[in-house]
Amino acid sequence: DVVVVGSCMTDLVSLTTRLPRAGETILGHKFFIGFGGKGANQCVQSARLGAKTSLICKVGKDSFGNDYVENLKKNGISTAFVGQTADAATGTASIIVNSEGENVVVIVPGANLLLNFEDLKMASDVICKAKVVVCQLEITPAVSLEVLKMAHASGAKTLFNPAPALADLDPQFYTHSDIFCCNETEAEILTGIPVGNLEDAGKVGRMLLERGCKLVIVTLGAEGCMMISVEEPIPKHVPAGKVRAMDTTGAGDSFVGALAFYLAYYPKLSIGEMIRNSNYVASVSVQAAGAQSSYPYRKDLPQNLF
Ligand code: ADP
Repeated sequence: DVVVVGSCMTDLVSLTTRLPRAGETILGHKFFIGFGGKGANQCVQSARLGAKTSLICKVGKDSFGNDYVENLKKNGISTAFVGQTADAATGTASIIVNSEGENVVVIVPGANLLLNFEDLKMASDVICKAKVVVCQLEITPAVSLEVLKMAHASGAKTLFNPAPALADLDPQFYTHSDIFCCNETEAEILTGIPVGNLEDAGKVGRMLLERGCKLVIVTLGAEGCMMISVEEPIPKHVPAGKVRAMDTTGAGDSFVGALAFYLAYYPKLSIGEMIRNSNYVASVSVQAAGAQSSYPYRKDLPQNLF
């Protein structure tokens, strides 16, 4: 099965014609609440493909937290290790989007930053028995690193998504990642090299690989991915299909969640095939609005993906 350790965020989205200036109050024409956070997004995508999943995370003892737990259950995710704390609010992303689609976003991580080593200890059985363990950086980085170490020591495959990226990422994150999967922006922050084309993507992939992971994937939006591994040290491009993109929010999380599913349930596929399938899943997600709201279910996908 797949275990994700990471964040939950409630997205509070207001649609307006333009963004307000400092001190200004403006009227918006629509408001909605969405479920987000990279950890939960990835777990939801994996679950919708049919993976048995657990999410290890922390939300507040508040209505957003209660709603989030419900949402996870509805997606068939085990919530045995979803903590609810009275010491902080559920993580939120307050988002304003103007009619050009530009946005401003304030993230308050809240309860996500209270997920701690004690919580990992309580969940250690689940983490150590998993086939695949996934984490990101929307929780305390030291906690993510501990997850990778625990999983690695017990023989689980570790899939690490260094998002949001830290310029001074602890080098141990590389050595404890079986698969290190980042997007172009994250790759640039980690290496200092902007990714403008496939050649750059291959170059940053090689730099990241040399830091000690076994396999690096750089996602490239509509271009799909670049992969490079210890076994295949020549960068290989895995293109995505051509689709009409409507909203790419959460595409990277759809990709990571799908990849975790394939690693856990189709270990005989080559990594290239897993990436090709995950590209397909993520390319479906960009054709509908929102993050989790756009993630496909197994029943809606072509059967040759399974
Ligand atoms: P992020 O959401 O982190 O910025 P990317 O933009 O790199 O990540 O997208 C992640 C994956 O989603 C890509 O590797 C690809 O599989 C898919 N994807 C994203 N944008 C598109 C698009 N316009 N057309 C097809 N697939 C896309």
